[in-house]
Amino acid sequence: MNPNSTYVWLRTIVALVVIAALALLLQAFFDPEWALGLVCVGIIAILTHHLSSISGLLRWLRDPSKSVPDGRGVWEEVFSGLYRLVRANQRQQEALSAEVARFRMAGTAMPDGVVILDAENHIDWCNPMAERFFDIDTAKDAGQSIMNLVRAPEFALYLERGNFAEPLLLRLMRGEGLVLSMRIIPYGKDQKLLLSRDVTQTEKVEVMRRDFVANVSHELKTPLTVVSGFLETMSDGVVTMDKARTARVMGMMQDQTDRMLRLVNDLLTLSALESSPGPAPGNEHQVAMAALLSRLMDEGRALAAGRQQIELDCPETFDVTGSEKELYSAFGNLVSNAIRYSQEGGTVRLSWRRRPSGEGEFAVADDGIGIDSQHIARLTERFYRVDHSRSRDSGGTGLGLAIVKHVLSRHQATLDIQSTPGQGSRFAAILPARRIVVAAPSDQALAEKATRS
Ligand code: ADP
Repeated sequence: MNPNSTYVWLRTIVALVVIAALALLLQAFFDPEWALGLVCVGIIAILTHHLSSISGLLRWLRDPSKSVPDGRGVWEEVFSGLYRLVRANQRQQEALSAEVARFRMAGTAMPDGVVILDAENHIDWCNPMAERFFDIDTAKDAGQSIMNLVRAPEFALYLERGNFAEPLLLRLMRGEGLVLSMRIIPYGKDQKLLLSRDVTQTEKVEVMRRDFVANVSHELKTPLTVVSGFLETMSDGVVTMDKARTARVMGMMQDQTDRMLRLVNDLLTLSALESSPGPAPGNEHQVAMAALLSRLMDEGRALAAGRQQIELDCPETFDVTGSEKELYSAFGNLVSNAIRYSQEGGTVRLSWRRRPSGEGEFAVADDGIGIDSQHIARLTERFYRVDHSRSRDSGGTGLGLAIVKHVLSRHQATLDIQSTPGQGSRFAAILPARRIVVAAPSDQALAEKATRS
């Protein structure tokens, strides 16, 4: 017992002793009835004091939100003890609330969806990301079964089976086909944490990767089948071939091997472009456009082999900053396409000029077969072709414009495509003004020569 409480009890005992002593004195020297009256009054006073304190305690117990009543004597000790208990309890509550608030804040900031489910899979709490994923309105839907909100049979089966070792991949039909990776973590007493992560982009990349592998395999399979067929026929010796036929077969095998080589080279170019970190070289690398245009003209003429006329329009010479190798590969692809998709007797016109806005524009215009507008947006996708057999027959890999797009985006440039079926196409690479620089005098002379020839 603490010394304070001993003191309190002592006061009550002293009061009783004083009353008893006074009563004895009254009895001894005055009227004994006075003594009895004094004892009664004393006891009634003590009882009244205790009863009023007890009723104060009862009132407080009925509504503990009110402040603890004041007491005197022994009750002062009781009420101050109660007050200390209430304060300690309040502090604990405050600490707990702060803890819950911190947890909720962390849950709210999480980029993943978090839902707390009870034993019956009813929603206890969820963060804003989960609200977005499952279209939940916390105020309205708290206490609802999660099954009513995630209406997917595979999710119901996942919950029912209770094996949460592997996450569940769920494709939601809402919006733009959200794909979620869902994971359930049981905890506490039959409670569950439902975590969901948006993997739409990752899934898209995975689909693209699968398609790409399938496309490459398909592209390589055809020439390989042809070559291996010929080799088999030749090696089993059943079919004898004269010199002319052997030369023809060898020629066909060479074509197929060239096709595979072109494909592998384009794949290597694409892969090198994709693995190059950051943008293409900056202003420190100046590409001499006159020399580059002259090379493009020579190669274009060699490829056209007189079937098409190749012309250059370059009113003034200026250079561009960036990677010469990459720009040459991109512009070369545009020239080769213009020649391959043009009829005999057509004209392919290369131009390099400065737009009024200051941007540089390298364009290749042809009067060839043209492209239907529905295909234009997809032309830069890997292996996208308008006419498969025409592309293959002319030595296409289906990767040329994908390379062009990559190179241009590394130079912060864009590709503009204008085309009319049956009339021709114009592919223009538009390079930002900050990449355009004055050409060296020797380049100017080269450009004039290239334009004249
Ligand atoms: P490919 O190796 O098949 O030419 P590209 O990526 O270079 O692949 O081009 C994609 C497709 O775009 C081609 O298959 C072709 O259908 C179309 N195309 C590209 N350039 C032209 C053009 N100048 N005229 C008509 N069609 C073109």
